[in-house]
Amino acid sequence: MKIIIIGAGPGGYETALLAAKRGVEVTLVEAGPVGGTCLNEGCIPTKAFCKNAEVLDGLREAAAFGVTDLSYGFDFKTVVDRKNAVVEQLRGGVEGLLGHKLISLVHGKASFKDEHTVVVDSVEYTADYIIIATGSVSASLPIPGAELPGILTSKEILDIEQIPQRLCVIGGGVIGLEFASIFRSFGSEVTVLEYCKDILPRFDTDLAKRLKQSLGKRGIDIQTQAQVTSISESEGSYTVSFTRKGKEETVVADKVLMAVGRRANLDSMNYEEIGLECTRRGIAVNEKMQTNLPHIYAIGDINGLMMLAHAATFQGIVALDHIMGVENNIDLSVMPAAVFTSPEAASVGMTEDECKEKGIPVKCLKSFFRANGKAVTMGETDGFCKIVTAAEPKDGQDSPYAAGRILGCHLFGPHASDIVQEACAMITNKTTIENFRRIIHTHPTLTEVLQSALFE
Ligand code: NAD
Repeated sequence: MKIIIIGAGPGGYETALLAAKRGVEVTLVEAGPVGGTCLNEGCIPTKAFCKNAEVLDGLREAAAFGVTDLSYGFDFKTVVDRKNAVVEQLRGGVEGLLGHKLISLVHGKASFKDEHTVVVDSVEYTADYIIIATGSVSASLPIPGAELPGILTSKEILDIEQIPQRLCVIGGGVIGLEFASIFRSFGSEVTVLEYCKDILPRFDTDLAKRLKQSLGKRGIDIQTQAQVTSISESEGSYTVSFTRKGKEETVVADKVLMAVGRRANLDSMNYEEIGLECTRRGIAVNEKMQTNLPHIYAIGDINGLMMLAHAATFQGIVALDHIMGVENNIDLSVMPAAVFTSPEAASVGMTEDECKEKGIPVKCLKSFFRANGKAVTMGETDGFCKIVTAAEPKDGQDSPYAAGRILGCHLFGPHASDIVQEACAMITNKTTIENFRRIIHTHPTLTEVLQSALFE
């Protein structure tokens, strides 16, 4: 069996490696560096910046920990160089792995010639199966000034040469908030303009409201219900105009980050010619990631289902297993997500609102990091945890879930991105609250925030 995989991000390269380990011959086509958005201009470089932000925040708070000599300088070039070194190191690792004898890595842009053939720089490659994993690109707003040079995407902001004194972030989603948090720690005055009523529209509203307050305490100005209408430039500074509750307002900034979502990267693939069906989000797929052409699969951001690196990787496993006739019971609906702000936010499973919309009776259990011993010792007490569980249906109500089943976990606070993983395991294994309560948590650890919610 031969497989062509188009795109070597965490969807494509992980699937290529798994296929090769199983003895399948793979042609992996990549137009840019291996590792895709995640490794080269997304998750990894931003997390390198997050570490710098953490170091700076630590220095600012050092007096409270008894440090008396607090003079320090901050060289932004070193920050960018370090970020680049981290990316290069990890990219080298992926390149090494892709040296597998069954993987042939082709550099160039692939387009479809027919249902079984892709062309890269006039060379044709054929296979029994094709997996498309070409990711996504930054979206922009159709407003005057959006194309001005100096309006940055999440890629470009990683390579700016100076920290802007004033940064305006358009979009209070995951990308917008992560950069808002990072650049606030770097010393910028940051304003976030978010169109919806709350930041992080797809997250639990309780969490979003509390995280907004927490980021506000750090001096990040977050304006919700703000519809950005235009951007203009004068002498190197940008005026971002927006409408909020019927009033015209403006923010003046030295740099503007456009973070209003990403769109599937279908550029120049000729997908229409072979009859591949698309939706508004991207290539249409079934639960096995199979397109309308049964031997072609689409995984990761390109199908627009869940724009997360780990979603791409696991969708790749589902697709490969389906191709190879291997049974698997991966539940792609239990998908953890984390926002690497300071403090971090994380989420897995259903939100309270989602359950209410679906008529599922729920009981929510809450706890707070201020009551967690480890968080107090760290001086990082801002945060809360909410566990959504199925409740006993009342008269006339119905529920597909047994009472006590854990349905979701939403939290923000120190190391939320790590803590959520335990809840993810519980939800994946369809655990009830009774069973979760039997699990002994080490003291003193941040994970006890889950235990505290369970025994609320
Ligand atoms: P997003 O969809 O998370 O957020 C975009 C935000 O922009 C939304 O809150 C939206 O309401 C807002 N918006 C849209 N139009 C606007 C307007 N006219 N004015 C003001 N605000 C407006 O998208 P994103 O933050 O760009 O991220 C893109 C994708 O990448 C997401 O799917 C995200 O999950 C993923 N991502 C994940 C991580 C992570 O897991 N840590 C990190 C980065 C990106």
